[in-house]
Parts: sequence; structure tokens; C-alpha cells
Amino acid sequence: MTEYPHLLSPLDLGHTTLRNRVIMGSIHSKLEDRAKDVPKWAAYFAERAKGGVALSITGGISPNRTGWLLPFGGTMNSTRIADRHKVVTDAVHEHDGKIAMQVLHAGRYGYHPFVKGASTRKSPISPFKPRALSTKEVDQTATDFAKASKLAQRAGYDGVEIMGSEGYLINQMLAARTNTRTDAWGGTAAKRMRFPVEIVKRTRELVGDDFIVLYRMSLLDLVDNAQSWEETIELAHLLEEAGVSIINTGIGWHEARVPTIVTSVPRAAFAPLTARLKAAVSVPVVASNRINTPEIAEQILADGQADLISMARPLLADPDFVTKAAEGRADEIITCIACNQACLDHTFKNQRASCMLNPRAGFETELVLLPTRKVERIAVVGAGPAGLAAAVELAGRGHEIELFEQAPEIGGQFKLAMEIPGKEEFKETIRYYRRMLEVRGVKVHLGTRALVSDLTGFDQVVVASGVEPRIPTIPGIDHPSVVTYQQVIGDRVPVGQTVAVLGAGGIGFDVSEFLLHEPDESVEDWQERWGVVDPSLEVDGGERGGLGTKVLAPPRRKVYLLQRKTSDLGKGLGKTTGWVHRQTLKDSGVEMIKGVTYDRIDDEGLHLTQRDHDKAEPVEILVKADTIVLCTGQESVRDLVDGLEASGVPTHVIGGADVAAELDAKRAIKQATELAARL
Ligand code: NAP
Ligand code: SF4
Repeated sequence: MTEYPHLLSPLDLGHTTLRNRVIMGSIHSKLEDRAKDVPKWAAYFAERAKGGVALSITGGISPNRTGWLLPFGGTMNSTRIADRHKVVTDAVHEHDGKIAMQVLHAGRYGYHPFVKGASTRKSPISPFKPRALSTKEVDQTATDFAKASKLAQRAGYDGVEIMGSEGYLINQMLAARTNTRTDAWGGTAAKRMRFPVEIVKRTRELVGDDFIVLYRMSLLDLVDNAQSWEETIELAHLLEEAGVSIINTGIGWHEARVPTIVTSVPRAAFAPLTARLKAAVSVPVVASNRINTPEIAEQILADGQADLISMARPLLADPDFVTKAAEGRADEIITCIACNQACLDHTFKNQRASCMLNPRAGFETELVLLPTRKVERIAVVGAGPAGLAAAVELAGRGHEIELFEQAPEIGGQFKLAMEIPGKEEFKETIRYYRRMLEVRGVKVHLGTRALVSDLTGFDQVVVASGVEPRIPTIPGIDHPSVVTYQQVIGDRVPVGQTVAVLGAGGIGFDVSEFLLHEPDESVEDWQERWGVVDPSLEVDGGERGGLGTKVLAPPRRKVYLLQRKTSDLGKGLGKTTGWVHRQTLKDSGVEMIKGVTYDRIDDEGLHLTQRDHDKAEPVEILVKADTIVLCTGQESVRDLVDGLEASGVPTHVIGGADVAAELDAKRAIKQATELAARL
């Protein structure tokens, strides 16, 4: 008996069977673009197939050069390239998995000067103005999709996924917002739909019946002047007739200003819409977006909302997700917390995608943790992200580990992060580490401040004692209205109605959200806040693409977010998440002031001077704040280091204890894992 009978049940597609309902959705790993990376790419997919994934989908491969996402991006247009991909497909088949190649034409999202799209309309997220594909070129592009699919078949792929969502070329051809054509490919909804339908028809003709053709359909465009729900369903019917085997779902164009996958989007928020599509078609339908645990995936399938579940980031985080669920070890799964820090933020910066919580993702052949040949007794001091990762990975290699933590619980800075509304997922990381400390037999000393004398008997010591808030030198800093972020989030000290938050890094933004919003937001409240409406309830062609008007609750208090730099606030936040944080605070009326000097704090509040390059003269401002919260960075806690080094015990300093500037969990966990691989 399994807890996940639906998730683990096979799916018969007629000519072939998927061994369970888990699809690894496409994510651009950056390993698909260069021939030299093929062995790494193969190892990456092999690890997921070994972990039980039924069907993996590659990152987008262009059918021709015009469709490149980036210059010299992965292209499938020759038998030579197809034969190179055999290394990848063989590696997956060795573990009884299946793999489909995603065919993606970027259209106007291409990041190169010779982009072509449905029309000459430039995308708001790209610097390049596209040229419009000619009538003949559109026709040729549809054929190129089919030819790329045929080559994928030669390469040993079990199928292809035609990328028809997220705002890429197919979406651009489907939406009146981008398709202003008057030829055979535009002008009416029916003509706009011809492009994807021709692609699928021509693909099916070339690949025959015994090949999986998935189509990733945009269920909700979340941009103006996009497809209506009626058109979406009509397209689904046409695609079925044209020969798709499976319809996958995508939510939101990349240029949409509604978040669709970040951690603050409630889990499975879009599954009900997938259910409506499923009710309208007879081919299997895939649910995606913010599905990150076997429980949620099972529930969606058990409720009949979808036939398959697509997870991309959750399988980056844990390639053994399926095996662990099947073996009753779901509590050992590294749950993706939808932070995007090492996956999509990397992809969009043209770096290799990995995972903050699993730095081996994408580095399977480079970051290898083999069983140790010489078992040592190693002490790890500090149970924040760095110390936890070090303890768990070192124990996994067979070392005898003791972990010392002065707080009564493990978690460090993650204990604070999980209190932030929209970051509740961080609880899962603490759950994972807590369980793995047990599974790997780490001896944990909580509420114990380790002294040098406690540690000198170990063979090696890892110092991961973390950070403490930086207290800046400002006249009046000892005023009773001043508190640190740790006191506000961790100790829940009372906070007044008008608050000045000093420092607008990740923590300043987090504290502002903590002061303004409630945790565990419902799907309905989230939809209202972002103006997401049910497109299937459109009346008389009303709101299209699921985009309506935001309904914003009055803010709980007045927050001023301040920084000394003159750059816009939040510039340093994540590439794919920063805009969400900025918009959220803007919608809550937060006043963001840059270019300030903190003059003094007294009973009146915070006195500051603003020097903004937009204004000629400095302006003196009094923020009549009841509470002033310091989010002004951190200092390393390293009191043990000198003593340990003097004692001669080999000592390694990692995480915030090593470098507090630019501290982040991604670096801390990677550093800990790399150290664990070496010791
Ligand atoms: P941070 O990014 O270094 O921000 C601290 C801010 O405080 C600086 O931007 C700086 O801005 C200001 N500051 C520094 N020294 C100061 C001083 N002596 N007096 C007054 N202001 C001072 O650090 P953080 O916000 O503490 O976050 C720590 C790390 O956690 C981040 O690097 C990030 O990686 C991670 N994190 C990320 C997120 C996220 O992405 N959502 C959330 C939480 C934490 P000015 O000098 O311009 O005022
Ligand atoms: Fe998930 Fe964050 Fe890892 Fe990306 S980096 S896979 S979002 S946990």
C-alpha cells in the first residue's frame, strides 16, 4: 500500500506507458546549449530518471536559428546534432525513464539582435525590437518545428513538447496583443490559431503515431488583449484533432506582472483551471505551477483535476522525489521552496541552473559526495543553513557528526525567513534537515553554546556560527523605539503603527512584508490582490487572459523603507522575484526613500537628510516613526575561530561566519556541501 496511489499509478498512452504520473517540466539548465556540456546534461537527467521520474522534458531547443533564446542557443536542425543528443536519451533509458525534447521558438523574447516575431511589437522585457516573420517564414517555421521533432525522434527521444505558453512565439501568434497580421496567420482568432495547429499536424505527420507529442498550452496569459477562455478551449479541441498526445499547461507570459511561480503564490493555485480544461478534452492533461509535495500532487490527481503532474524545480531540488514518496520516505524529500535563487535567477542571468537547497543539481558530475574512506569525528557549530547542510552531508558520507546549536531549535536565519508572509515554505527546509539529522544519526546538542574546550577533542571542526544584526552608528541608536529585525520577527516585540525600516536589502523587504501582511494567504485573497480573475467566467468578451482589477486591502500600518544608496530600492533582490517584492510593498503604500543619511533618532522619530539626484538640494525629513527597525546588514559571529585555530584542531569556517557581506543561503549551503565533499 502506498500513500500516493494516484501519483504512482502508470498511464497508458496506447503505444507506450508512463510508469507514474510525474513529469519533470522543462527548465532551461544552460547545459543544453554547448556540445561540451552533453555528458553533464545526460548525468543531470539520468539522476532524475534513476529517482523515478516517468517523463522528463528538456529545456527549450530551438527549431531554427531565428528561434534562439540566446545567441547560439540549443538548436535541433541537423542529424549531427540529433546524434549528439543520443548520449542524453540513452542515459535516461538506462534507468527506465522517458524523455521528451521541448521545441521552443522564442519569437520576440529572443535575446539577440536578429529576433523575429509575429509582428514588430517589442516585448516590454526585451531590448530587441523584432522584425515580423513573413507569411512564408511563418509557414517554414511550422515545418521547422515538425522537422526538429523528427530529428528528436532520431536522437532517441520518446517525444517532444511543443512550447505554446509563457509568451514565446506560439503565444505571440495566438494573441491579438502581438499578432497584428492581416495575412493567413492573423486577423481573426481562427487564423491566429492556425500556427500551433499546423505545427502539431505537421509534427504528427512526420513522427508517426508511436511518439509522444505534448503541447504546452497557456491556460491563463495574464496579459492584456490575450486569448479568451473560449479561444483557449477551442484551441485545445483543434490540437486534439491535430494529434497531440498530452496537453501540458503553462500560466502567464514572462512579461505578465502577476507572479505565477514564486513562493508567495499559493500551492496548486491554478489546478482548478486545469480541471476545467481536462473536462473539455479527452487527452491527458498536466497540472503545473507551485506543486511541490507528493501530498498536493496526489490530491490534484485524486480530485480528478489532472492526469499528470509537472514539477520542474521540485525535481531539481530532489531528484529522488518519486522514489522517496514510493518508499514511504516523503519526509526525506528536499522540498522546493520556490525561491528561484539558484534556478530561474541563474537561467535569466545566463548561468547554469542549480538549486539553492541541492547544489548538486546541474553539477552531478562535478560535486560528488562519495562514502569516506577514513571515518572522522567532526563537530559542526551552528544549525543554520550552512551548519545543517554540512552536518547532513558529512554524516551522509559516513563521518561521525556532532552538531552544536545555542538556540533551542535548529534553523538559524531560516527560522526567521519562514515567519515572513509568502515564505512559509521555508518551514519545509527545516523539516527536511530535522529529519535527515535523525536519519543520518547526527548527535544534536540544542541550547548548547559550544566552547573551544568542548571541541578540541574532535578530528575536525566546522564553524557555522552565523551572523548577528549590524547595529549602525547613528546618534540616538539606543532610543527605546529602535529594534533589530531579529527582535521583530523572532521575538515578536511590539511594533507601532508608523514604522521606519532602515536598510532595503532582502531583509528590509521581508520585514516590511511581515509588518503589513498576514501569513498563509488563501488562493482567493491572493487572486484578489493580484487582480487574477477566472477567465472561464468572462462575460461578453470581458476580461481576457485572466487579468482583472486588483482589490487591495488597506495597509495594516504605515511603513517607510529607507536606504542610503541612491539606486532604486530592491535593485539587489532576485532577478525573477525582486519585482514581486517591490510591487507588493508599493501596493501596500510603503514609502520607499533612497539616498538618505540617518541624522539622529529621538522622541520625535527618525531625522534624516535625503540627497536624491532628482532634487537639487538635500531635504531634511522627519519620519514620525513609533518603531525603527534595523535591517542594516549583519556581522559574522566568529568568537570560536581564534581559539580553535590556536588549539591546532583543523577548523573550517563557512556561511555567514565566514563572510557576512552578501550573505545568502545559496552560498552558505553550496560552501557547506563542497566542504563536505572534500573532508
Ligand atoms: P543586505 O542586502 O546587505 O542589506 C543591508 C542593507 O543595509 C544594505 O543594502 C545597506 O544599504 C544597509 N546598510 C549596511 N550597512 C549599513 C550601516 N552601517 N548603516 C546603515 N545602513 C547600512 O543584507 P540583508 O538585507 O541583511 O540580507 C542579508 C542577505 O540575506 C542578503 O544578501 C540576501 O542574500 C539574503 N536575503 C534575501 C532575501 C530576498 O532575496 N528576498 C530576503 C532575505 C534575505 P544602504 O547602505 O544603501 O542603506
Ligand atoms: Fe526550488 Fe529554490 Fe531550489 Fe529553485 S533554488 S529549485 S526555487 S528551492
